Amino acid sequence: MTDQLQWIQTELDTLKDQGLYNHIRTLASPQGPWLVVDGKKALNFCSNNYLGLANHPRLVQAAKEIVDRYGVGPTAVRSIAGTMDIHLELERRLAQFKGVEAAVTFQSGFCANLAVIPALVSKEDVIFSDELNHASIIDGSRLSRARIERFAHANPADLERVIRANAGSYRRGLVITDGVFSMDGDLAPLDEIYAVSSAHDLMLMVDDAHGEGVVGKGGRGIVDHFNLHGKVDVEVGTLSKAFGVVGGVVAGKSVIVEWLRQRGRPFLFSSAVTPPDVAACLAAVDLLEESTDLVDKLWENSRYFKTEMKALGFDTGLSVTPITPIMLGEAPLAQQFSRELYNEGVFAMAIGFPTVPQGKARIRVMISASHSRDDLDYGLQAFAKVGRKLGVIR
Ligand code: PMP
Repeated sequence: MTDQLQWIQTELDTLKDQGLYNHIRTLASPQGPWLVVDGKKALNFCSNNYLGLANHPRLVQAAKEIVDRYGVGPTAVRSIAGTMDIHLELERRLAQFKGVEAAVTFQSGFCANLAVIPALVSKEDVIFSDELNHASIIDGSRLSRARIERFAHANPADLERVIRANAGSYRRGLVITDGVFSMDGDLAPLDEIYAVSSAHDLMLMVDDAHGEGVVGKGGRGIVDHFNLHGKVDVEVGTLSKAFGVVGGVVAGKSVIVEWLRQRGRPFLFSSAVTPPDVAACLAAVDLLEESTDLVDKLWENSRYFKTEMKALGFDTGLSVTPITPIMLGEAPLAQQFSRELYNEGVFAMAIGFPTVPQGKARIRVMISASHSRDDLDYGLQAFAKVGRKLGVIR
């Protein structure tokens, strides 16, 4: 008898041979500036805990209190079992924070993209998509069955070219871009993309997963950064990064939010996030509205780390945000670099193909407001030591 699953083992072995196998480390601590990783204390340069909220006492307390009042689970989809008022309250607060008419939450940012894209376009339509858009945008686009036309990364002139090349061949058009690109830490030129898409009467959507709580006034996101309020039709966000919890959000005009409550499939066919998630997110919105201190600290830390890394001779690529790639080239070198960093007490993941193109492997450092100056200096020393040992810097 043959083994129908043998091909999977062959594929897994190939990944290992190519240095592309994802070795997932085990954490035995909360997400904070330091972690216990595979039993050893290490500086955390991996998580998207931009503001240090994942383990913030206010969020933890809010989650504990709500469990006594609302229990732990929503037990069915909201449109069938009824929606808890706290979910509606979170959506109202998120809309207010972002300065939009309305917002609706999902189980994750990934689900938000799977919900909104097929709700806006279908077979007769076209999506104009930045070539480096996140996997969840690609999957949501494929689910929609709209034709997908890619434009060169962060390039409004190429967007214009692709739109013209497709003129007259579709019913509705939707332009989609990430706000902050998660692997390079660069920003979409959203003002110019808006100018092109509005000139052609297209819908515009931005996935601001890495921008929310990070860019814009007090972390209000990329639409605020470019002062495009009321102009971008759909803002997708996540509550799992700067907000420190879990969940996704779509924010924009009331009509879109109402449509998603009727036609967004992850809303209609999957349960909502749990009461403690919602309560913690509400506490995160409170904190962001009370003060910009955490966002300011995040940027101060990011600027310091990047400046010092460049002075050491490292290449931080296109980054203009707290996402700091250290460009290394080939995947085996990036993986070895990551292992050596771990030996020095620093947890920083290597990222290779297919997450980034072949030959563009890197270590991605995620800076947080929760890092102290001493933490950053510790990380810098480890990078300097490993970089010299492996011949990346002199
Ligand atoms: N969009 C982008 C741009 C992302 O970087 C991510 C997370 N990697 C997501 C969506 C998905 O967010 P979540 O983790 O909440 O599913």
